[in-house]
Amino acid sequence: MNLLADLYNILMPRRCVVCQTILEPSEQYLCTACSIQMPRYPLHSIEDNEPLRKAWNFAPIQYGATLLYYRHHSNFHKIITNIKYKGNEQLGIKVGEWAAMEIAHLQLAEKVDVIVPVPSDKNRKKKRGYNQAELIAEGMGRIMQRPVKNFLVKKESGMSQTRLNKTERRENTTGKFEADIPLPWRGKHILLVDDVLTTGATIGNCAQALLAADSQAKISIFPVAYNA
Ligand SMILES: [Zn+2]
Repeated sequence: MNLLADLYNILMPRRCVVCQTILEPSEQYLCTACSIQMPRYPLHSIEDNEPLRKAWNFAPIQYGATLLYYRHHSNFHKIITNIKYKGNEQLGIKVGEWAAMEIAHLQLAEKVDVIVPVPSDKNRKKKRGYNQAELIAEGMGRIMQRPVKNFLVKKESGMSQTRLNKTERRENTTGKFEADIPLPWRGKHILLVDDVLTTGATIGNCAQALLAADSQAKISIFPVAYNA
C-alpha cells in the first residue's frame, strides 16, 4: 500500500478531462461515460473521407484517417486544449495511443514506414516546452510500432500577418515548412500527424515540403481531430 499516493488521491483526485467527474481507479483521463460518448468521426475508409478531401486541395495524399470531431461548443474539445494549452503531456501521448488502437483495424500502420509530426513554431515550442503533435505522434508510434522522426521544421515567420484574422493567420502556412529527409528515409511512406485539421492547409503544406525534399515519398495523414 502506498500511503502517500492514497493521500495524494484524496487531496487531489484525478478527474475526467472532459466532464470533471472524479475518475475510478480503472479509468484514465476520461470517465467511462465520456469515452463512450466521444464524438468519433465515422471513418469508413482511409482512401476517401472528409479530412482527406480537404488535404487533397493542397497536396497529393495517399491515405487519411482521424479519431474525432473537434467542436468548440462541446466539452470534448478539452481533450485537445488540455494537451495544447495546459501542458498535459502525458495526455498527449495517451491520445496518440488511443487513436492508434481505434484505427488499428484500418491497417494504416502496415502501410506507413515512419511517423512525422507537424512542427510548431520554435518560439512556441520553447515557451510550452513541447510540441503537441509530437506527443500524439509519440503515442501513435508506440502502438503502431513505427519510429517518430522530426523531418519538418517551421520557418520563423518574417512577414507581418497583423492584417489577417486569427484563422487566416493560422492557415496562412504556404512555404512556411521545410523538410530534411536523411537518405535512408527517402522513398518511404510517411504518416503526417497533427492535432486538428480545419482547412487542411497546414498538413497539406507540410506534405508539400516533404515531397519537395523527396519526390519519391508517399504521404498519408492523421489529424487526431477534424474541425468540420
Ligand atoms: Zn467524463
